[in-house]
Amino acid sequence: MVKATKISEVRDQVRQWKKEGLTVGLVPTMGFLHEGHMSLVDKAVSMCDRVVASDFVNPTQFGPNEDLETYPRDFERDCRLLEEHGCHMVFHPEVSEMYFDDAATYVEILSDMPKQLCGKTRPIHFRGVCTVVSKLFNIVTPDKAFFGQKDAQQLAIIRRMVRDLSFGIEIVGCPIVREADGLARSSRNTYLNNEERQAALILSKAVFAGQKMAEEGEKDANKIVAAMTEMIESEPLAKIDYVSAVDGVSMMPVDKIEGSVLVAMAVYIGKTRLIDNFIVEG
Ligand code: AMP
Repeated sequence: MVKATKISEVRDQVRQWKKEGLTVGLVPTMGFLHEGHMSLVDKAVSMCDRVVASDFVNPTQFGPNEDLETYPRDFERDCRLLEEHGCHMVFHPEVSEMYFDDAATYVEILSDMPKQLCGKTRPIHFRGVCTVVSKLFNIVTPDKAFFGQKDAQQLAIIRRMVRDLSFGIEIVGCPIVREADGLARSSRNTYLNNEERQAALILSKAVFAGQKMAEEGEKDANKIVAAMTEMIESEPLAKIDYVSAVDGVSMMPVDKIEGSVLVAMAVYIGKTRLIDNFIVEG
């Protein structure tokens, strides 16, 4: 596996691959990899001739009081995992390689879409995500890029950005990977102490309960959200940021389960903000 830190190294390698007629897949990550990330890499390896994973904690998607400084990092371990899963290149740039000190150009969706759900408490988050993903698309020029359904709003926003800006890259969404007990895998799970780790199960429990209601034919989105909210509120260590039902494409709130509906939540367990969701086709 090639380890690249410079944009020019990535460009040279990808140019070579394309000359050989090989297809290229991109898996953007912030590192501290787990089985959720690896499922994206596995999917990319199965669908593309060559796979590039980026491993970069992107400062522009963190707000001023968020966990940029403490975000977990272990590049050596990430490399071992990526290599084991057949990844061909990891791109691990310094912040200075990605952003000029006076960088002033951003990619931002100006509809209400990024203001819903996580956008309510993280107002600059999706602007940072769209900007770094656009940069990665320009650097790697992949045929396909792989994103997790775990970050459902991010996935919807990337699809919209790719459509609006004619990137010509196929976006492949991949299902949520969970721990054996249900907790969605996340690099941030490492922040949880034993008691919090146990309390964090309330997210997936609420997801499974909501999913069951929907599968059993409940069409009132507000009833599903209310039942999930009540469940989460029963956990003393949990503090709800939001539990919402939104249209699966536009991310705007819905009252009825009709078409593709995303039921998503963000919940603080102690100081750690965790997300989870499910999609129901009504
Ligand atoms: P991150 O490193 O948290 O920015 O995540 C990088 C990519 O991995 C994103 O597309 C995430 O949606 C995806 N991802 C993270 N956790 C999971 C998971 N538990 N299941 C599936 N995909 C995930």
